[in-house]
Amino acid sequence: MYQSLIKPLFADIKKFTLNVLFPIRCVVCEKEGLFLCADCQNKLTPLPLQYCVACQKTSPFGLTHPKCISPHTADALVSIFDYHDENVGKIIIAGKYKFIPAIFEILGNLIAKKFVDGYPSILSEPYTLTPIPLHSWRKRWRGFNQAEILSQTIGKELNLLCTTVLVRCHWTMTQKNLKKERRLLNVRNAFALSPKILRPCLAGRQAKSEILNQNFILVDDVCTTGATLAEAARVLKRNGADKVICLTVARD
Ligand SMILES: [Zn+2]
Ligand SMILES: [Zn+2]
Repeated sequence: MYQSLIKPLFADIKKFTLNVLFPIRCVVCEKEGLFLCADCQNKLTPLPLQYCVACQKTSPFGLTHPKCISPHTADALVSIFDYHDENVGKIIIAGKYKFIPAIFEILGNLIAKKFVDGYPSILSEPYTLTPIPLHSWRKRWRGFNQAEILSQTIGKELNLLCTTVLVRCHWTMTQKNLKKERRLLNVRNAFALSPKILRPCLAGRQAKSEILNQNFILVDDVCTTGATLAEAARVLKRNGADKVICLTVARD
């Protein structure tokens, strides 16, 4: 009886009280209702150009230039919004540092729609979404991995599978304050296949079947030079992935 009637009632009262005391407000305009209201969602600046993940020069649709492709390079890098729009930065920073995971659900829905509308040909084959992993310490500190929430939301919106196949195997400095060469060194060997993927291999089943010949969309919140995404893509391709597309909410 308690479980079926009283408990939901208390949950409703708790939600109502929290909403009255701490109403949900848009992190940009402070309007009540959503963490990012529809008006502010519509005003975010799209990234005007896309860039090759390997050479950082502009490239149509973010496709990696044929001259820059090697067996372990990501095939494309697509970022939806311009991080130089101060509101884009404000929203992502609020989500990460004011600990609001719901912001990444809103952003995930938003970028899923823009991704299918702007890049329909990229998705002509089946893809699996996978997030850039956070180091376990950082995930414990934040309580969530924003890239995981983005991947799951995009997966639901586009009806694609979402699975975590990579882990971060060593602590890396924040890329933001590093020069380009240091960024590449900083993330070198930062990722490995998740033990969940490796366990079936140890049991003698087909090695890494979750990676072999599969197409992936690697998801992260912000891309600066693309070094982190390029390194994660390298691990997937080295283990037999077919196509790897990197997708981020914004580019700095
Ligand atoms: Zn707003
Ligand atoms: Zn290039």
